[in-house]
Amino acid sequence: MGLQIARGRAIKTATRSFRNSSDDAARAPVAKLNLPGPKADLRFPIGQAARAFYRRFWPGTGPAEWNDWRWQMRARIRTLEELARIFRLSEDEYAAVARHQGALPVGITPYYASLMGLTDASEPLRRTHIMTGDEYLRGPGEDDDPLSEDHDTVAPGLVHRYPDRVLFLTTGTCSTYCRYCTRSRLVGNPGGEYHFSTRQWGEAIAYLEAHTEVRDVLLSGGDPLTLSDDKLDWLLGRLRAIPHIEFLRIGTKMPVVTPQRVTRGLVRVLKKHHPLWMSLHFTHPAELTREVTEATARLADAGVPLGSQTVLLKDVNDDADVMTQLMHGLLKNRVKPYTSINAIPSGVRRISAPGWTRGLRSFGPCAATPPAMPRRSL
Ligand code: SF4
Repeated sequence: MGLQIARGRAIKTATRSFRNSSDDAARAPVAKLNLPGPKADLRFPIGQAARAFYRRFWPGTGPAEWNDWRWQMRARIRTLEELARIFRLSEDEYAAVARHQGALPVGITPYYASLMGLTDASEPLRRTHIMTGDEYLRGPGEDDDPLSEDHDTVAPGLVHRYPDRVLFLTTGTCSTYCRYCTRSRLVGNPGGEYHFSTRQWGEAIAYLEAHTEVRDVLLSGGDPLTLSDDKLDWLLGRLRAIPHIEFLRIGTKMPVVTPQRVTRGLVRVLKKHHPLWMSLHFTHPAELTREVTEATARLADAGVPLGSQTVLLKDVNDDADVMTQLMHGLLKNRVKPYTSINAIPSGVRRISAPGWTRGLRSFGPCAATPPAMPRRSL
């Protein structure tokens, strides 16, 4: 099935094809792993606010469901009705959500919603995930593919721009959909979320086997941690079996927005495929909860080096106090502030870049403590 790109604008068919994951199993079965189930994570911490939140909005739900990442995925807030049940929506938000069609839909896990302001539309985390009318404006220079990834796509989901590294897009699914996403054309597509199939992964893997100059594979998406442990294990294993690939990196927001995903089973899978690095995607200190501390501790204890890429967003984190709290909080959680990215015009104008000067000023106090300063700013 062709991937359709539509966000209130013209629909066009992309050159790559995506297939529903339900097609996959028959073609390339992935062995089941004998991993601990959700019960093993009953001891995952639940913050007080989160507990009060699920008792109020999901009565009858207990800690076992709340701490099961699959429950968090199934219970995601996806519709206007669900949003209106939980949030007091502004007129602007209500109209924008009602108007939306196509890719980059609303998608918020109950856990992440529990961190948001229920009545204040200007609350930072809410601004990053509930659309408003600005999203339908299009400014000069904005593009559905702002990083020109389609131009450098050499196999389905495989972007080869720099000689020794590739970007491997593993899936079109995320647990939450960020309104500033630079892959808004690809993620959460209409008619269901489409996944790259294992057969298509095979085409990308064949390309990598033939290109001995590639030593570094960054797995991204969508969010690779939305894949099951079985599929992730299969994919990481196939990539690590290629002799010239020296290490793998996973780019993910899931430990931030759905920390319950970091199960002991997942950690066992990741440990099998070292050297493996992880780039997390933090935007605001409100994300640094007890749950996130547990998730990052499990990953760090498994020997996975953790970095954060932080997108600079107007009225979200373009403030020196907010940014200092975030950078210092990341270090306490063993996450290295690695990259700051000024939000890139991507056809999504819900929240925009703060401008270079203001954006860089946000890091002022961090400069006094070098580990708190991101290594790179883009
Ligand atoms: S998690 Fe990443 S890929 Fe998914 S919507 Fe957010 S920025 Fe885009």
